[in-house]
Amino acid sequence: MADPESTRKPKKREDPDQPYVLPGIHRFQFFTNLKDRGWTMNLDRAALFGVVAALLATMIKPLVRGNAATIYCYECRACYATQDRCPVGIAYQAELSVAGRVGDYDRFIRNGGLKCIRCGNCQSYCVQYLPLPQMFGTMQQDTRTAIRSGIVPRYVLERALKEGLVGKEFIDDVVNALA
Ligand code: SF4
Ligand code: SF4
Repeated sequence: MADPESTRKPKKREDPDQPYVLPGIHRFQFFTNLKDRGWTMNLDRAALFGVVAALLATMIKPLVRGNAATIYCYECRACYATQDRCPVGIAYQAELSVAGRVGDYDRFIRNGGLKCIRCGNCQSYCVQYLPLPQMFGTMQQDTRTAIRSGIVPRYVLERALKEGLVGKEFIDDVVNALA
């Protein structure tokens, strides 16, 4: 019969033949044997849970906001090639796409999102042919709602007005929010 004491206590691993990865650290203490590390037996599961949670958080926000296409933007920035074919002079379309994905109003506004007239000229430069005009339009409506609710900080709106970053569709909302 097994000694109950020996079954309860975790056995300390001794493996002097394992190579060193750093002074004082054997390979078995490193990445390949996470279960042998002290503070949790479930470190690998905790890490996996963290990765999955981060991925879900990245996807759930745009899904809830009705801007699912932004998930597919992999930030290659090929759309910057639009250049002067954007009639309102927006230089960084990928910034608008990412701002739409994460719901960052400041980023969207300061990159000219409220100037976009959704002409679609930039779409042909997207390597995935994402529906950029619809993506930007959805974020514009979100931003309008946020401005009306007072969520967007005052300095963001003041700067946007000063720098001419507000299109005529949204000017009343911005002026009213600042009144
Ligand atoms: S859809 Fe918007 S960002 Fe794209 S080219 Fe037209 S105005 Fe510029
Ligand atoms: S080209 Fe398309 S996928 Fe690449 S950053 Fe621009 S919007 Fe995103």
